[in-house]
Amino acid sequence: MSSTDVRQVSDRTGHLAYDVFINEPPPQDGLLPNGEPKQFSPQASTLVHGAEDAVLVDAPLTADQARALGDWVAGKGRNLTDIFITHGHGDHWFTAGLLADRFGARVVATEGTIGQMHGAVASRSLLWDKLYSGIPPAAVTAVAVPDNRFTLEGHDLVMVEVGHTDSDDTTVLHVPDLELVVAGDAIYNGVHMYLGQSAVGGFGPWREAIDKVEALEPRHIVAGHQNRRLDDDARRTLAETREYLDDADELLRTETTALDFFNAKIERYPDHLGRMVLWVSARALYGVREHPGEDVAKVVRASWL
Ligand SMILES: [Zn+2]
Repeated sequence: MSSTDVRQVSDRTGHLAYDVFINEPPPQDGLLPNGEPKQFSPQASTLVHGAEDAVLVDAPLTADQARALGDWVAGKGRNLTDIFITHGHGDHWFTAGLLADRFGARVVATEGTIGQMHGAVASRSLLWDKLYSGIPPAAVTAVAVPDNRFTLEGHDLVMVEVGHTDSDDTTVLHVPDLELVVAGDAIYNGVHMYLGQSAVGGFGPWREAIDKVEALEPRHIVAGHQNRRLDDDARRTLAETREYLDDADELLRTETTALDFFNAKIERYPDHLGRMVLWVSARALYGVREHPGEDVAKVVRASWL
């Protein structure tokens, strides 16, 4: 388990800033087709903090990861008021309850995300619990807030619904006073993107979501999955997220099998982290294509296992 304060940006008055904590992937069994150990992507959580209070964005998967993140948050010496969850995937919130209890914080999300969280609970035994141990019991305790807005020491925090990205009903957190977007999985940074849930419908909705993030005119974007060695430059991460989808569309036309797609992506993105997610994406995209008429959710889930 490792972590870092990767970066800090403050507003003009110095009262508002953000820091990012990155959890390394939890231990996992199995190998990828190229012989590498299977490994999930690094998971980022963001602390937006004022002089006394703070808000956390996204909570990791396992109790060990939550302990590491919680110790880091505690070290910041702020009163954690809220934990905002960007979307329903378990790797962004299964430990939200643990952290909420530890700090006496409220868990907040949009109604759409809350609906997706219930779906994640229903399917966890078929997916996450087969891959990783140490995921705590996770009840959905998140609440929606009026107009999807809340505040931190008077600064606006806005939940912006961006629709389908790597799953349905996803959101980002816009912090106008920091020119910051905490993007969940709408934007990636140096990590293979999870494309499995775009196997039906394609990447058009995700491209629209990227446009919505860009329209907020952020200078900084924190991606939910990222390489800690990279910065949060908004222009670069927006462009690279679009390019990854364009490349995927091209490779879906030129590559015949999931393995061909996997190998071709690695050739184009040799430094990207999270090759297990690439393999899952490839299997889901080609699995749905090769098995028309089958239950899509089942095909996508099987691609993880
Ligand atoms: Zn994720």
